[in-house]
Amino acid sequence: MLDSNVASHKALADGGGYRFMFYGDLSGAHVCTTKEIYYGDTQEEALQAAWQAEGRKHFNQCRKCGKWVSLAMYNVDVLECVECAPFEAEAKFCKNCGAKIEEPTKPCPTCGKPLAYYGKGWSK
Ligand SMILES: [Zn+2]
Ligand SMILES: [Zn+2]
Repeated sequence: MLDSNVASHKALADGGGYRFMFYGDLSGAHVCTTKEIYYGDTQEEALQAAWQAEGRKHFNQCRKCGKWVSLAMYNVDVLECVECAPFEAEAKFCKNCGAKIEEPTKPCPTCGKPLAYYGKGWSK
C-alpha cells in the first residue's frame, strides 16, 4: 500500500526504537537508512519523526501521482516522477519529418524540430 506522505520504507527495531530504511516508490531502490534511532508510542510516530528529520530530504514527491522518488527518478522540469513524465528515449527517427537520426541532438538536424522533451526552458 502506498503511504502518501512517506516513501516506501522498512522498520528495523533497534534499542527499543526504530531505524528506518527508505526506498524509492518507483524503483524500489534503497535510498537511505536513518543514522539515528527514533522512538515513539507507535512505530508510525517514530516513522514520521525519522522521515521529517532524515528521510524527506532525499526524496522528491511527484506532484501528479504523489509517489516519493529519488532525484534520479524525478523529472525536475515538470516536478513529476519519470513514470508520469518520462525522460524520453533517444530518438532514432524524427517524429516530425521522419529523418533518420544518427546522433541524438536536441533539434532534428533536418527540420530543426525538437526530438525529445527538454523541459520548459527549451524551445525552438
Ligand atoms: Zn508520478
Ligand atoms: Zn526532423
